Amino acid sequence: MLKKKISKIFIGSNNRGKLREIRELLPKRVKIYTPIHLNLSKSPIENGKTFIQNSLIKSKYYSKKSAMICLADDSGLEIDILNKRPGIFSARWSGKKNNFNLAIKKVFNELSKKDKNWKKKKIKARFICALTIFGPGFKSKKSIGKIEGSISSKKKGKNGFGYDPIFIPSGYNKTFGEMKPSKKFSIDHRYIAFKKIRKFF
Ligand code: IMP
Repeated sequence: MLKKKISKIFIGSNNRGKLREIRELLPKRVKIYTPIHLNLSKSPIENGKTFIQNSLIKSKYYSKKSAMICLADDSGLEIDILNKRPGIFSARWSGKKNNFNLAIKKVFNELSKKDKNWKKKKIKARFICALTIFGPGFKSKKSIGKIEGSISSKKKGKNGFGYDPIFIPSGYNKTFGEMKPSKKFSIDHRYIAFKKIRKFF
C-alpha cells in the first residue's frame, strides 16, 4: 500500500545554518514551518546522552508546541584525540551568545593542551547528524549520518556556520567553510542522514 507523503512539516530548530540546509534538502512542494512562525523563542533542555536522544527530545517538544509533524536535528563535531568532544556539547562550546569564534578557540586550546604539536598532525574528526521525525499520525523515524574528516590548523573560509571553517572532509583539501554551500549540502552528515528518511516526503 502506498503511504501518504508528508506535505507540511515543522522544523524544530532556531539555527539558521541548519534551517537553510534542511530547506534545501526537502522537496520544494513540502511546506515548511519553523519556530519563527509560531514566535517560539524557547527551546527544550537537551539532556539526552546521545545525538539521537536529543533529536527525539526536540522533535517531541516542537511537535507538541506546533501540533504538527516535526523534523528535528541534533548534530555536532567529534574529535578523536579530545575523547570525541565537543560531541553533543558542540553548540554549548559557543557559549550563551552562540559565538563560534569562541567555540573554535576552545577547540584549538583543548588540542594544544593534548598535544602541542597538533598543528603538524592529522587530527581525526567527524560531523554527526541525528534526524528524528515525530508527530501526530506518524510512526516516528530516526536516522544518523556521519562524515569523516580532520581539523584544519587555521580557520578557513566564510561559508557555512558553526565549525565549518575548521572541518576538512576526507578526500578534499578545503574546509566546509571554503566549499560552495551546494557542494557541502551534497556530501555532509545532514545529507547522509536525510537520504535515509527522504522517502517519507
Ligand atoms: P544542536 O544540534 O543545535 O545542539 O547544535 C549542534 C552544533 O553543532 C551547532 O551549533 C554547530 O555548532 C555544530 N554543527 C552541527 N552541524 C554542523 C555543520 O554542518 N557545520 C558546522 N557546525 C555544525
